[in-house]
Amino acid sequence: MSTNTPIDKIAEGEKLCKEMKEISARLPYELGKRCKQIRDKDLKPADQTYGEFISANTGFSKAHIYRFISYFELVDNLWIKSHRPETLPDEFVVRPLSKLKAIEDRRVVWEEVNSNGHPPTAETVKAAVEKRIVSVAQPKTKKGEPNRNVFNWTNENIDWAKWSWNPVTGCKHNCKYCYAHDIGMRFDKHFNPAEHLYRLTQPKTTVIPPNLIDMPGIHNVFVCSMADLFGDWVPEEWVEKVLNTIRDNPQWNYILLTKNPKRLVKYEWPDHAWVGTTVDIQERVDPAEKAFKDIKAKVKFISAEPLSSKLVFKKLSLFDWVIIGGRSKSSKMPAAQPEWEWVESLLMQAREAGCKVYFKPNLSIVPKEYPDDKGGDNG
Ligand code: SF4
Repeated sequence: MSTNTPIDKIAEGEKLCKEMKEISARLPYELGKRCKQIRDKDLKPADQTYGEFISANTGFSKAHIYRFISYFELVDNLWIKSHRPETLPDEFVVRPLSKLKAIEDRRVVWEEVNSNGHPPTAETVKAAVEKRIVSVAQPKTKKGEPNRNVFNWTNENIDWAKWSWNPVTGCKHNCKYCYAHDIGMRFDKHFNPAEHLYRLTQPKTTVIPPNLIDMPGIHNVFVCSMADLFGDWVPEEWVEKVLNTIRDNPQWNYILLTKNPKRLVKYEWPDHAWVGTTVDIQERVDPAEKAFKDIKAKVKFISAEPLSSKLVFKKLSLFDWVIIGGRSKSSKMPAAQPEWEWVESLLMQAREAGCKVYFKPNLSIVPKEYPDDKGGDNG
């Protein structure tokens, strides 16, 4: 603490720091502008590339030179009157936009990520870019408009599947932590079970953008993310229509999850369907193990999300995959993390049983232990 320093001296120091920050923010832009001028106006000897010429005269590597130009062009594409030079976006924040070929798409995404009142981050821009790539790749209607009868692109709540498909919505389990309920209330004004027959065509109409074909989870479709398709209240004919559509469209990998595992037993599961049950509390362990010993499916899984107590399995080896997650925020409950001990115990059981383990992005807890009981506080 500089308790003896006059306030005006500190203020001057702060002003200089602010200037440095602004210069540093502008630097890649200014460098890119000049590199681009040299490239576009061919301001270099004929026997050198512009990269070689700039590198020889400045010491910048060619990789840096291409990066500066790319950044300048991206920012220039987005140039909107409200951008003051000193508030140029960070290079890492705008970089994901380069995945979009059309300038118009870059602008749409940039507007979108700036419209929610929070400064965009590299993650929010990346997610919005992916969403845009997916949206423009979908087939157009006869009127040339984007076909909206396609799968939904998921967000990080469901990051093990890139798509969700909701031919049935609504649920009667009434879990307090249910954010699907909140979404249903916002868009449909209810969360009662409902069938949406027109969505049965979505496995046929949805297109994977060629540039995302290698993305992990790009073929995975979470079936009925806004429902429990196997709730006791769901008419058998609704389930059959969904399962028949799955059988007819093996180009996707369907992920089905229920809190009512006993209803899964009677179906035959094709290899492109992964079936799972939510086990968030110990009381769900026995019904899960009882049902899954009679289920024949290529991939059987547990979703321990939100992990809400310590879980002890007798036969976790019945399952191939264990997803562990925290609690996301809903209108009735705040976001929360499980205790590390619960996570660790489940992880160890899964390792022992030979299951693959998937930590959801909403699981952020890490162990914070000390070698003594007092956290090093000897005072
Ligand atoms: S089972 Fe799933 S969809 Fe149904 S209320 Fe619970 S969290 Fe919501």
